[in-house]
Amino acid sequence: MALRIGCAAAPGQSPENKTGSWRVFRPSYDHEKCTGCGMCQLVCPEGCVHPHSNEKKYDPDLDFCKGCGLCAIECPVAAITMIKEEK
Ligand code: SF4
Ligand code: SF4
Repeated sequence: MALRIGCAAAPGQSPENKTGSWRVFRPSYDHEKCTGCGMCQLVCPEGCVHPHSNEKKYDPDLDFCKGCGLCAIECPVAAITMIKEEK
């Protein structure tokens, strides 16, 4: 069968394609330090940081977090620590 030019990825929406499986580090959020500024949600390139429904604290969706560490770098109160992923 001849190869087609173009994308080889199967079609599908991003919620169906979990992208956090190859992460080396994961962010750990300290809710005691968190001020709820929302910077982590703003800078996350995966769009996978979400506020809790009942309080102004944030958590990453680890099914989609790639462990880039941007949220930890940009958090103004150092409430996020990158820790080694354990499989
Ligand atoms: S950037 Fe830091 S302080 Fe701001 S919401 Fe995220 S964890 Fe909380
Ligand atoms: S480590 Fe990167 S991908 Fe994961 S939540 Fe933080 S900014 Fe988003």
